[in-house]
Order: sequence, then structure tokens, then C-alpha cells
Amino acid sequence: MRPTLLALGLALGLGGTPYARADTTPPSQPPLTALTKDSGTPEPAEQKRVHFDHAELHIAVHPDTQSIDGKATLTFSALAPTDVLLVDLDHDLPVSAVSVDGKALSAGAWSNPGGRLRIQLPHAVAKGGKVSATITYGGKPHVAKKAPWDGGFVWSHTKDGQPWVGSAVEGEGCDLFWPCIDQPDGKPDLVDLYVSVPKPLVAPGNGVLVGVTEQGGTRTWHWRAKHPTTYAVSINVGPYQELKGEYHSRYGNTIPLHYWYLPGEETQAKALFAEFPQLLDFFEAKIGPYPWGDEKMGVVETPYEGMEHQTINAYGNHYAKDGNGFDWLLQHEFSHEWFGNQMTNANWDDMWLHEGFATLMQPLYARWLDGDAAYYAWLNRLRMIIANRHPVVSGQPRTEEEVYDDSRGGPGQDIYNKGALMLQTLHHLIGDQAFYASIRELVYGRPDPKPGNFRLQYRTTADYMRIVDQVTGKDYDWFFKVYLYQAALPKLDVQRHGGTLDLAWQVPDNLPFPMPVEVQVGDTVHTVPMADGHGSLAAPAGALVTIDPHSVLLRDEPRITEFQQWMKQQRAQRKAAQK
Ligand SMILES: [Zn+2]
Repeated sequence: MRPTLLALGLALGLGGTPYARADTTPPSQPPLTALTKDSGTPEPAEQKRVHFDHAELHIAVHPDTQSIDGKATLTFSALAPTDVLLVDLDHDLPVSAVSVDGKALSAGAWSNPGGRLRIQLPHAVAKGGKVSATITYGGKPHVAKKAPWDGGFVWSHTKDGQPWVGSAVEGEGCDLFWPCIDQPDGKPDLVDLYVSVPKPLVAPGNGVLVGVTEQGGTRTWHWRAKHPTTYAVSINVGPYQELKGEYHSRYGNTIPLHYWYLPGEETQAKALFAEFPQLLDFFEAKIGPYPWGDEKMGVVETPYEGMEHQTINAYGNHYAKDGNGFDWLLQHEFSHEWFGNQMTNANWDDMWLHEGFATLMQPLYARWLDGDAAYYAWLNRLRMIIANRHPVVSGQPRTEEEVYDDSRGGPGQDIYNKGALMLQTLHHLIGDQAFYASIRELVYGRPDPKPGNFRLQYRTTADYMRIVDQVTGKDYDWFFKVYLYQAALPKLDVQRHGGTLDLAWQVPDNLPFPMPVEVQVGDTVHTVPMADGHGSLAAPAGALVTIDPHSVLLRDEPRITEFQQWMKQQRAQRKAAQK
């Protein structure tokens, strides 16, 4: 997911681009249950007994009534004996029929009181056995008020009044419109998605297009995607036009390129599409092979800002220009194909692994295209909006919403901005080679990824800490313990007396923090080791001293605290004046 508009406006110096095309007034609708509203709630033992092999989803989208009809056949392998299936599904999409292995169940054999559909199997399944359940359901799916910051369907219209529909469910999860296991590691091995829409609407989807069939006034698009991220399975409907191409990868494979855009925007659409090869080149050069090269790089224009839907990235940035020479939103969402889809947080508590890396990719790309000024200017904007209210990682299992919502004690936007700047500091500390080696290991689980030789990775913060130690041969736990597990940033106390400069790190709980500090004295840059958190060096009276001259140390800085306090006062005054 992208950072919030407020953060973005401040970060990029934009005036808060109004977003007007979606039908923003949601209908009155029942509130979601606590279980449906969150993604990644504690997983019941019954759900852990099964592996999700296959989901065959038939979803008919009815824009005129803002409703869907769904029929899902879910196939599981039993990891342990089980006589029950539990899947998550919003209970406001009533289930009308359930069959197991092709046999209809009586109505008493299933129930869905609070959003967790419980299916009593007619026969227990032994360990290693398989079971398929077909669930027929439908109704009005939950509507998002402000996607993608809250989740649901977005029912919108194009300028000429044609239906334009999208789903974005990262916060609440897949159970908003299909029966699933709403956990980061609940990915089915394979999804066949059949989306039926009124002709002549188009329904771009995840993975590979298997075929399009027509019956009466309905057209059905059949998509097939290998182990898509649960919240990345998406519905997209509109009168789309399509741009197609091919990318010949540095790894020798050929990647299909597709962009579905709204009619009347051909010029802007072609310009955006022209960015696709360069994006792929950057990520493949810096990180490694595009994970879904045998499916496609897909992008669809959506009536909401953006979301990292696997191989069908949601794009809603209105082709905005910001002086960077590339579409930052597309670049951000696309980076999630690596950081989010190929490598997925094992628990939402580790969500910075998605957003911290994804946010660092924009300044790195800016530097790759245009050099250091673009890079440092970007990082400086991110620095202005770090909040430091709560640690980036709690060390406890958390739901997506608990992480995203700083009023519930979550790190909120710090998973983006503090995550990215922490990584920039790490990059400098361990060097280019070790930094990118650590990313390859994190994302692919091996140092030498090539198309076809890697598998999905579910990762924790502890995994990344272990990987950094492994590739460097040193212990960097002290680094992560301070930057990720403490709310406050380390502060560098600098005292100059006589001809000496004394440096001391001030760290929460007096944790060890042997972070070297570069200091420029006159024309010479010295590195002070700070082995026990302290250091000193000669600084003759009158010599010009600059701490951290290369801007690589994420730390508490008075210039920023003062700015943030001033901004807060300004906002309060504006609010008071409006009353
Ligand atoms: Zn994101």
C-alpha cells in the first residue's frame, strides 16, 4: 500500500492533489465484525490443520446493483486429521449452499455467525488427504469509504458514465469478497479467478489470461495466478483499453507487459507504459529477477490511488507529474512484487519488510535515473515525517490494522519512512555488496536467484537480522534493537571543548549502540568508531566541524523536531480558525 496522502503531500511538497473521480459517498452498510475488519487475527487450530492448494473463484460483478454473486471451490490438503473446515468470509455475503467433494450439505452443516464460516465435514479427512468445498454466496460486498486506506469495493464511473469498479482489501483482507484464510501466509498455491461482467466491460485480473467466454450479455474472464498474496487477488472492471508489449530480461526470459487504461487517456497511458521496461531494468539489476516473469507485469488504472495487487498492480495516480521524471506511485506499488508478494511478512508485525523496502526503492530509483540530488532530496522529505511514537516492530503478533493505526499503538507510517531511512543507514554501515546480498537472501532465500530457481519467502524481522549477520559475518542485532524495537531515535550528543570533540550516543534504555560517526574537520572526514557508544577526536579551535557530512545517519535531529512541532502548531491554529 502507498503512504497516506497527508504524508505524501508533505513529503513531496505537493498541495494535496484532490482525488475526485471515485463515487466517494458510501451507501449505508452494516459494520464489519471485528474478525472481518482485521487481517491476521490469531489463527484457529482448525485452520492450521490444512494447506490451501487451490481456489477456483467464480465472481459475477453487477455494477447496476453494486452486488456480486460468488461460487468458490476451495481445495485443501490435510496437514493433520480434520473433520471441519474454517474459512473467513464477511457474514454480510450470505452463503446459500455448501457442498463437499461434490455432495451438497444440509443447511445445518455450516454456519457463519461472525465472519468465520464453519463447515462440518461429512467424513473426517486423514492426514495427507484432500478435501474440496464449494461455497455459493453473494450480496453487496463491503464498500470502501476511502480506498486503499480502508478496504472494500469501489463502485465508480468513468467520465462518460460507464461502470468503473475495483477492490482493495489489504487492511481487512481477502474475506471481504471471497472465502479464504485471511492470514499473510494463507496464500493458495493456485487461484483460478473467473470474473463475469456485463458486455462490453473488461475485467483484468491476476496472473495469466486463460480465456474469455461470452454468454448472452455476459463476458467471463478467466485468470490463473500462482500463489497470489491473499489481499492481492483483485477485481477490476471498466471499459478498459489495453497496451501490450514484451520485456527481454537481463536473465534471458521474456516478460509480457500489459496496461489497462481508461478510454480517452491514450497519450498519458502510452507515456506511463513506456516507463515499464526501465522499472523492470532497475529492479532486476538492483534486486533480482521479476518474480512473476512467466505470468506478466500487469497494471490497471483504478478508481482509487494504488495497491500492490500481484501482477495486476492498481494505479490511480492520474499521471501526475512531480518533477522526478517517473511515476512514483507506480514505482512504489510495483516494488511490492518483490517486497510483499514474492517476500511476504510472516506476521503483520513485520510489515516494515514490505513498506520500508518499498519506500526506499523510490529514492534509489531517483538516484539511478538522475543522481545524488534526487536521492538525498527524497530521503530528506521522508525524514521530515517520521513520527517515532511507537516502535516499528512490537515483537508480538499483530493484525494489519494494529500496525497501520498509530492510535492503537502501531507504528503507522513509520513502517514506510523510518523503515526506509533505517535501511539507508544500514546500507552505508555494511556497504553496497552486503546490503544487496542481504536483500537477495531476504527476497529469494538464495544468493543467486534466476527465473525458476526460487520459491515464495515468508519472512520475519528476526529472519532479516539473521541474514544481515550471515552476509556480513558480524553481529548487528544492536542496530535493529534500537531502530526497530525502540520508538525514539538514537541521539548524538556533541561537546566541543578546547581542541577536542566528544561524541556520545544517547539511546533508549542505554542499549549498546556502537554506531560509527563520520565527522568532517576542516577538509578531512574522520570516522569515529564509537565502540562503546562514545568517541572523541581532535578539532582545533576555529576548524569547521560537520557531523555526518554524507547524511547517512538516521538520528534524532533538533532541526526536524522543531519543524514537526511548528507544523503541528500551524495545523492546530488552522483548525481553530475554521471553527
Ligand atoms: Zn506500499
